[in-house]
This record gives sequence, structure tokens and C-alpha cells, in this order.
Amino acid sequence: MLLSSLRASFVEAFGTSPTAFSVAPGRVNLIGEHIDYLGGCVLPAAIDRQIRIACRPNGTDDVRIQSDHSGASPVSFPVTDDRVREGDESWINYPLGVLGEYRKDGVTCPGFDALISSNLPAGAGLSSSAALEAATALIVEWLSGEARSAAQRAALCRLAEHHYAGVPCGIMDQLVVCAAEEGHALRIDCETLETRPVGLPRGIVLVIANTGVQHALGDGEYRIRREQCAEAEQILGVASLCQASLEEIGKQESQLGELLTRRARHAVTELERVEDFILAMAANDSATTRRIMHEGHVSLRDDFEVSCPELDCLVEAAEEFGHGLWGARMTGGGFGGSTVNLIEAKQVAAFTAFLSEHFYVTFERKPDIFTAHPSPGAQIFPASAGDA
Ligand code: ADP
Ligand code: MG
Repeated sequence: MLLSSLRASFVEAFGTSPTAFSVAPGRVNLIGEHIDYLGGCVLPAAIDRQIRIACRPNGTDDVRIQSDHSGASPVSFPVTDDRVREGDESWINYPLGVLGEYRKDGVTCPGFDALISSNLPAGAGLSSSAALEAATALIVEWLSGEARSAAQRAALCRLAEHHYAGVPCGIMDQLVVCAAEEGHALRIDCETLETRPVGLPRGIVLVIANTGVQHALGDGEYRIRREQCAEAEQILGVASLCQASLEEIGKQESQLGELLTRRARHAVTELERVEDFILAMAANDSATTRRIMHEGHVSLRDDFEVSCPELDCLVEAAEEFGHGLWGARMTGGGFGGSTVNLIEAKQVAAFTAFLSEHFYVTFERKPDIFTAHPSPGAQIFPASAGDA
């Protein structure tokens, strides 16, 4: 929805104009999956699919909030409400959680009206949850006058996801959504929180293919992977799997057992892939980026076991297409969601048709495939400036 129509919808919903627009992007992760919570380095990019929130202080102590998200009814709750919701109202946990974490950080936010509009698919592995958190965080800062740095904002949003959405995520999603730079991916050191923009090769387009299989990270598999990593760390005697080596894992294989060996091997090999991938992009070496993304996908599929047949099908189709491909892999936490593809611009139309047909043969429905531009992080601005 354009901001002008979001403004009109806000007027219709609340009978007055918004004073600010808060806009936060989704993200894809190019490489470095399931290692942010281990303190590894990762390489996501924000995309030009966003959650946009029109807002206005309402002079009360309540938040009145609506969303065009399917099944989300208008809700009103006190700004200090701390009750985690379930079922149809569970989407409120994100704004509610952000308000809660800012409050614990000493920030008091006045009541406000908010209307959410999004062109970012939810539950598609593109981090709509972090986008909703970041957009809300900017509103809290705007209305309270208590600005935070992008890194501080990301940390508070991550706590909201932990404590209110029940997902023990790493910092990657929130940090890239808050700190991304236009036209670049963002290398994040999840140990030190240092970030560095990384340019993509010229003429290469990001293509996202959404399987339509809704992942549910809160459902437990994500948490189980984290626990398995912690168990492997204990056996290996390292503070993080990112400090382990394949050699040590090999030596301890009998203690680790077959399952934890595979989990640890994913973490160690994925960490190496991130740096190799950045070097290969800088060297314009598409054969290497393609191999690295392939190996990353196979590792997530076989060693970490977070892929699914729909994701595997889309990655196989991309590799079979081949022309101008710089790499294809599942992106995000897995168990459904999307693949990310890097492909030469002139191949995009044929590539998209090929993927779609290939998927249809097996699953008898079409995936949602779209191109994305690496985009800046979340921003808030006065509604008077948002008429574009
Ligand atoms: P992802 O972050 O990969 O999109 P999550 O399961 O982490 O998937 O977050 C999706 C949840 O975020 C949705 O189920 C919903 O609760 C919330 N959400 C996402 N987009 C919106 C929106 N536009 N309006 C309201 N809630 C949303
Ligand atoms: Mg999420």
C-alpha cells in the first residue's frame, strides 16, 4: 500500500490524520544460517518488501491498533499491558512485546493509534516479525523522544521476540532490519555486533521464491536446534560451536553421537562459508558463490535438518536452470518459507517461469516468486513528508 493510501485508511479507521509513518523492511539471508545465535558471522540483506505503520498519539493510555494482516481484528490494549496473547490475537505480541521491552529499559510511551499495512509475506522466512518489531520500536522512540541506536533497537526487538513471541532467535533478523544499507548486504558479526555493508556483484538480482509453506518457529524445532547446539558445545568443551573445528568434531564423534556430530558440522562449515562467499563475490567468481550456496543448502537439509521438500524442489530447479545463476539456497529458519536466488538480470524472467513450472509439476500449485532490491533499514518520518 502506498503511504498516501495508508494515510487515507488511517483517516477512515481513526477519524484523523496520522502524524508519522514507520517503515521496516523484511530480509533475506544470503549465507550464514542458524549461526547467529552461536555468535557467528552472517550475511543478510534487507529487501524492498516492508511493514508500514501509520500512527498518531491519541491522548489516552491505550494503544489502538489494526492491521491488514489476514485474520487480525482491531485491538485496543493499555500501553502497559504485559499479557502474552494466544490464537487470533497472537500478532499483538510483537507490538506489545516491544512496548514491554522499552518500558523495562526505562522508556514510557504515550497511547497511540496505529494502522499496519504490509506487502511482506508473514511466516515466509523473510522476517516479518522483526520488521513489525522494528517499525513499532521506532514509533515508541518517536513518541517518547527517547532515541536508541540501531544496535540498541535491534537488541530490544530481539528481547521482545524471545519474551513475548517465544522464539529464542539470534540477533541477525532484528539487526539487519534496523541497520541495513541500500544496495548492500550486511555482514554481521553476531558476537561483537559489528556490521559492514557488502556490495553485490553488478547486474545480479535477488529472486525470492516463497514455497507458501508457513513455518512456525515457535513450534519447537528452532528451540530444539538451539538446545542441540548447546549440548554439542558442552561435549566439545567450547563456549560456542563457532570456536570448534571439524578436526575436533571428528575426534569427539563417539561422544557426540551421529546427530550432534551433524549439527556441529553444520555450524562449523557454515561459518567458513560466509567468509568464502564474501571473498568470492568480491572476486566476481560465480562458480564459487554457486557452490557455496549449494553446500550451505545441503548442510541445512542433511546435517541441520531444517529444510523441507518444497524448498529442496525450488533449489534443485534453480540449479537445473543454471544459466546466469550465482547461487540458490533456502533462507531463514527453514521448515518452509522461501529460497533466495542470485541470478543475472537478463535471466530473471526465464528463471522465474522455470522455477514455477518445476514446482507445479510436483506440488500442483505455483510458488510466489518476486525480485527484491537490497534496501535500507527501518525508518520513521513525519506523515507530512510521506506523500510519495
Ligand atoms: P517471519 O518472521 O518469517 O515472517 P514469524 O512466524 O516469525 O515469521 O512471524 C510471523 C508473524 O508476525 C505472523 O504470524 C503475525 O503474528 C506477525 N505479523 C507479520 N506481519 C504482520 C502484519 N502485517 N500485521 C500483523 N502481524 C503481522
Ligand atoms: Mg520471524
